[in-house]
Parts: sequence; structure tokens; C-alpha cells
Amino acid sequence: MQVELPGGAPGEESNERIFARVYCEVARAAPPQSVDFRVKPYVNTMGKLQLRDGVLVVRISDLIAGAPSTVREALAWILLSKMFRRRPPAHWVLHYRQFMNRRDVRRTHQTVRQARGRKYVSGPRGDYYDLDPLFDELRDRYFEPLLPKPQLGWSRRPSRTLLGHFDHAHNAIILSRLLDRPEVPRLAVEYILFHEMLHLKHPVEHHGSRRRVHTRAFREDEKRFAALAQAKEMLKRL
Ligand SMILES: [Zn+2]
Repeated sequence: MQVELPGGAPGEESNERIFARVYCEVARAAPPQSVDFRVKPYVNTMGKLQLRDGVLVVRISDLIAGAPSTVREALAWILLSKMFRRRPPAHWVLHYRQFMNRRDVRRTHQTVRQARGRKYVSGPRGDYYDLDPLFDELRDRYFEPLLPKPQLGWSRRPSRTLLGHFDHAHNAIILSRLLDRPEVPRLAVEYILFHEMLHLKHPVEHHGSRRRVHTRAFREDEKRFAALAQAKEMLKRL
């Protein structure tokens, strides 16, 4: 389907056109009145969509704005599928992930994030566990494919009282160094990481002066973790 919208260099489909075309396919409807497209210096998300009075408002991160058009199309498929509560086509998700996992892309993103004032985090790879693939696995199993990956790292000290925390200000999940040992079962590490990932999904609620971090919805969601009781039992024994 051809959608006539202004903008775009000759020979290459403009971002407005890409989003309008994919919109038609995902929504199985006529194109939006127009597409309001802008690039933003986001680091925690690659893009956001909104439908406002028939106008599709698209904001994408400058980290991905210069990517090949197929990658921007993949992003359009993922964001629009989410908007219409559809499952994004697997090959677009794969294409997007492959790009994001490219060594040069990761390095650039890392540099930009640091330049935009993020704190130093140890990095996902511990002595025994690597949080990076663990995060991907848990995302595949329990979360949306576009759940943004925060910084992942290990605490400097092996804390017993704080096994994990999500640092909002720096968008970082930090696990206690105590967990990075062969005698700690993988399930226990997965559970702590899963819990912190839920903090990415569930915003903090404010009731007057009270902050509620573990809301009812959060607790309900946490029950989806397979072998929850077993994981909690393991942690007690640590
Ligand atoms: Zn928590």
C-alpha cells in the first residue's frame, strides 16, 4: 500500500512514510491523518508512540535515527504492534535485536549513555554469572520484546541485606556481588534479576507522602515467576 506523505530523501522512504505504512498494516486501517515525527535524545527507550486526534506522534531516539531504514521499519513494527496490542512479527523483532546487538552499535550506545551523565556500573559480566544473557532470557520469557535494557552490574561489596536494587536515577539494575558465585543456584540469581526487572515495568506509586514501590500489581505480576517458592527458599539459605 502506498501512502502519500511529505518528506523523505529521494530514493529512501522517509520515517513518516515508514510509520504510516506499517500503521496501515498493523491497524488494518486507513493511514493516520499525518505523522508527527521527531528525533529525541532518549537513552532509556528507542521510541514512543501516541495517537492524538488522528495524528500519529512518533518520537525516536537519536541512537536509532541514523540506523538503516530496515531497522527503523523493524522499530515501527514493534512500537505499532505494542500500541495495538498485537504480537510483533518475529522476523522484525529478530532484525531489530540483531542490529542492537552489533558490537559497534553497542559501543556507540554505551559511549553516548556515559556522555549523558550516567554513573559507572561494573558491567553485566561477573566472575560466574553474566547478567546480559540472563536479562534477555527473562525478557523473552516474561516481558515484552521491547522492554528497554538498563545498565546491568554487580555491587562493589557482597551485600547480604540488599541482594538487588533498581537505581531509577541511573536506570541501572545492580545485583549483590554475593550472588556471583558458583554455589549460588542460577534460579536464585534469576529471581532477583526478575524482581528488579519488574521495577522497570511498574512505576512507583505515590500516596500523599508515601511511596509505594511494591504495589499490588507488582506483587501479582511477581507470581508469574516459575518456581517462585523454591527461589525464595534458596535465598533464605544464602
Ligand atoms: Zn523491589
